[in-house]
Amino acid sequence: MVDFKACPRCKGDMVRNRDMYGEYAQCLQCGNAVHTQSARATFEVPIGRQRPGRPRKQKAKQPAA
Ligand SMILES: [Zn+2]
Repeated sequence: MVDFKACPRCKGDMVRNRDMYGEYAQCLQCGNAVHTQSARATFEVPIGRQRPGRPRKQKAKQPAA
């Protein structure tokens, strides 16, 4: 999609595009690129065990006397 006369630098025509970093608009006349989305993707990490490796052995239960 082309936005006519939308370049903030030269008032040229901006074409919208997307790459692995997200969406951006680039000017056809001067090459000025403007990101239109956040650069990084955010991931929701479920909160669980924080330490890597095998879980510790549970202590043996005391036998009932
Ligand atoms: Zn431009």
